[in-house]
Parts: sequence; structure tokens; C-alpha cells
Amino acid sequence: MKEELLEIYNSLYDKYGPQNWWPGEGLEIAIGAVLTQQTNWKNVEKALQQLKNADCMNVDCLKKIPIEKLEELIKSSGYYRIKAKRLKNLIDLLSIDSQPNREALIAVNGLGDETADSILLYMFEKEYFVIDSYTFRILNRLGLYNGQNYLELQQIFMDSLPNKLQLYQEYHALLVKHAKICCTKSNPKCDSCILSKRCLYNSK
Ligand code: SF4
Repeated sequence: MKEELLEIYNSLYDKYGPQNWWPGEGLEIAIGAVLTQQTNWKNVEKALQQLKNADCMNVDCLKKIPIEKLEELIKSSGYYRIKAKRLKNLIDLLSIDSQPNREALIAVNGLGDETADSILLYMFEKEYFVIDSYTFRILNRLGLYNGQNYLELQQIFMDSLPNKLQLYQEYHALLVKHAKICCTKSNPKCDSCILSKRCLYNSK
């Protein structure tokens, strides 16, 4: 598995180049990770801009702002009532612990594995491989992993890859890129796919 995962990374990197994720820095990354749940990034960008315009991209403001006002500012990201609550929960944690570990983040109501690991990998620059629906799709189709178990697939990546921050960040971003423009949910573009020779889906 180790060799296959590195070869896939190299193929994707050769094809798409460095992705330099994640947009924003510091707290903006954590907020983006919460807001991007079940929506696309364009909608998140609008909400992030609204927060910036209101001078509320900081722990102090996010702690003090009434939840109704926060809901209004992040409305474009969808599910804004739930997300406003999740943001408040996250800010409660960050206001008492500016460097939370994975257990603390996971304990925040509404933060799942993917959101917690995105915050750890991109905001706190800790080596946690982020798994998402795109990772499952590509790995399932390639025939390298059968199932939908987040922690299991994360462990496979982390056991197989060198423990390097930039590699983890780039690999996740490259898988997202590949899933969005080539290995799409329906009608994947297998004829032009850089991974087609090793893909089981393609040979069916
Ligand atoms: S060959 Fe097709 S199914 Fe396989 S990874 Fe490429 S696009 Fe996805």
C-alpha cells in the first residue's frame, strides 16, 4: 500500500501541481472548516467575507456576538443555525485552549473527524491526514480500500506515508481536485484519468 499511495500522490502532483491549501490563515481556517460542511466553498467565502466586514474574524467578537447576528452573517453557507451553534462551541474551546488537541476538538459538539482534522492539519499544522467523501470515492474506485470507515482509512494513509505536514496537506488537496474535475461522482472521466491504468472501476 505504501508504494501505491506514494505513486498516486506523485501522479496527481505531476498532473495538477502544488495546491497550496487551505485558503486563509489562523482562525479563518477553523471557521472555514466548520462552514464548509455540506456546502461548496463559494458559499463559505461569502460568509467569511461577511465576518471580516463585521470585524468579527476573531475569538473576542465571535464569543460576544449574539447568535442571531452570527446566523445572519454566515447565512450564505447554509444550515446557518446549526453552524452558528457549532462556531460558538468551537470558539468556547479556543477561548480557553488556543492549541487544542484532537480529543478536545472532537469533543466539541458538532465537529466530526473531518472538520477536526482539517483544523489540526491546516490551522495548527499537525500531521493528521484528512479523509473526506472524495478520498473514499477515489480509493474505493481504485480498489485500494473497501468501505467508509474514516479512522481506518486515515490510519492506512498515516501508516503508509512519511510523516510530513506538506505531504499530508498537498495529498488531501490533490485528491479533492482530482475528484472534482476527473473522478466525479457520476460519469468520471476515466479515459483521460492519470490513474486509469491502476483503477479497478475503469476495468469493469
Ligand atoms: S480511472 Fe476513472 S474511476 Fe478510476 S480514478 Fe480515474 S476517473 Fe476515477
